[in-house]
Amino acid sequence: MKALKVSQLFERIDNMDEKRRCILCGKVVSNTRNHYYVHYPGHYTCAHCPAVYTRSDTLLLHMRTKHPTIA
Ligand SMILES: [Zn+2]
Ligand SMILES: [Zn+2]
Repeated sequence: MKALKVSQLFERIDNMDEKRRCILCGKVVSNTRNHYYVHYPGHYTCAHCPAVYTRSDTLLLHMRTKHPTIA
């Protein structure tokens, strides 16, 4: 099964801007990236865009090429 992106795994909740609901387990969380790893351990998500990689060095390369001012 292909991993969902962070933005696909969580849905917005009315009147709770900072919280998201996980569509897999229904849990309401404020730190979506932390909860993402509960379902997809071993995946690396970019903190600045929805990109997800299965290797940390690929994410590092992504950071350097896509977000050079941050990395
Ligand atoms: Zn969940
Ligand atoms: Zn990125």
